[in-house]
Amino acid sequence: MKALNGLNSGSLMGSAYATLTIDPRNAYRSSSESSFLQAALQNGTSPTVYKNSFAQRILFSSNNTATGVLITTAGPYGIPAVNYTLSARKEVIVSGGVFQSPQLLMVSGIGPKATLSQFGIPVLKDLPGVGQNMWDHTLFGTDYRVNVNTASAALNNATLAAAGVKLFQQKATGPLSIFGASYYGFEDLPQPYRSKLSNASLSALAANFPSDWPELEWLPVSAYLGYQEDRQTADPRDGSNYATINTAIVSPLSRGNVSLQSASMLDPPLINPNWLTDPTDIELAIQSVHRQREIWSYLTSQGLTNGVEALPGANVTSDADILAYIQKSIIQVYHAAATCKMGARNDSMAVLDSQARVYGTQNLRVVDASSFPFLPPGHPQSTIYALAEKIAADILGNDTRGPGYKMGPDYSAMLGAQVKTVTSTNDNGAGTARIGENGMVSLALLLLAAIFSYLV
Ligand SMILES: Cc1cc2nc3c(=O)[nH]c(=O)nc-3n(C[C@H](O)[C@H](O)[C@H](O)COP(=O)(O)OP(=O)(O)OC[C@H]3O[C@@H](n4cnc5c(N)ncnc54)[C@H](O)[C@@H]3O)c2cc1C
Repeated sequence: MKALNGLNSGSLMGSAYATLTIDPRNAYRSSSESSFLQAALQNGTSPTVYKNSFAQRILFSSNNTATGVLITTAGPYGIPAVNYTLSARKEVIVSGGVFQSPQLLMVSGIGPKATLSQFGIPVLKDLPGVGQNMWDHTLFGTDYRVNVNTASAALNNATLAAAGVKLFQQKATGPLSIFGASYYGFEDLPQPYRSKLSNASLSALAANFPSDWPELEWLPVSAYLGYQEDRQTADPRDGSNYATINTAIVSPLSRGNVSLQSASMLDPPLINPNWLTDPTDIELAIQSVHRQREIWSYLTSQGLTNGVEALPGANVTSDADILAYIQKSIIQVYHAAATCKMGARNDSMAVLDSQARVYGTQNLRVVDASSFPFLPPGHPQSTIYALAEKIAADILGNDTRGPGYKMGPDYSAMLGAQVKTVTSTNDNGAGTARIGENGMVSLALLLLAAIFSYLV
């Protein structure tokens, strides 16, 4: 796999250290909330924030025009919850995430008619795509003993663990100050494994993904992940160092969905991940394990391992046994997306137009990972920021420059130099939304995605 000049270079095919959103002053991971909202709160430029507030329902007037949100607050220590209404002067923008944005739409009467009727929710707009089309990247790996220190070393040695904590707390350095290996690779399944894929799978991959869209991501982790049930307790703690080579399928064809178990937001939504239900995903996963073993074999030849596979073990060789192991150990990369997908007006499963406005409603947008028409192969945080900026530009453009405003040089300048290309979906036909990995965002615009139901 060729080394890339960073994962922001415009191509993902290859390997590089990842750009991380970690605050160098304290080595804590940053989020839009910790980096941008907190700064705005402290310097007095933030919008009004209603803390501990949980949106229960979007309120509508005639013509499905969103007018506000019904809120309940937490009622800790026996204090009764307070319910109130936030009224929108212009629009309601929902950013509840991939699971709760579709849930909020559904409990508010926007979604698949059959689901709404099942729970006695009056149907304002039958939108069958709400909660459907869920993409995620799934992850599975093989574990070996290695001849370098990994997270196992600290688990085996309390003094070493204490030294790592001290370095992190006092100097923001050391093993706890970085995010695992932080080195990732992307590729299409290479030969000889590719020749093991069925013609149907090869055709499905070619039909659904462009040629520069990688099929697999490689995520080496300097720790024993085992069956990925509990990363805190998985390590055997037998004095050896362990590492895991993980593959994520970043061209998945399996789709999950989000549905309701009641008409109330206080009941969590039903999430059906549906991982590895498409035969192409299954074939890619099995061949990826063979490829993992090829990489381990190379590392063994370099003297980095003892050559003995700790998990699943040398006796797991048939495709059926490998699949059983993958099914037992697979988890998500936590990149779920596209449950309120953006799409063309004539796509019956589209929920949002290219400006994230909910079809069949007025003054209502959804801006978060659920808005993606599809899940890009990279990690989504920066794409979500960029989406928020794109929609904010749409809103500001429409508000301040009139209906003729189109994205142009102003928009590119606003995004900053690090974003490579941004092309939005087109309501009237197939389009692409390919956005370079980027941590540079403008504060005022980012807040649109960071705050749930920010009312302008
Ligand atoms: C453990 C983990 C690690 C990850 N690591 C990475 C990474 O390294 N790189 C990367 O690119 N991505 C990573 N991701 C993915 C990334 O965090 C998500 O894709 C991203 O946060 C999704 O953003 P969002 O705005 O769509 O939703 P969220 O960030 O989930 O925000 C939704 C917000 O809405 C709030 N909310 C929901 N319902 C209501 C309601 N009814 N009323 C009020 N508020 C509500 C939620 O509390 C939440 O704060 C990771 C995810 C996880 C879980």
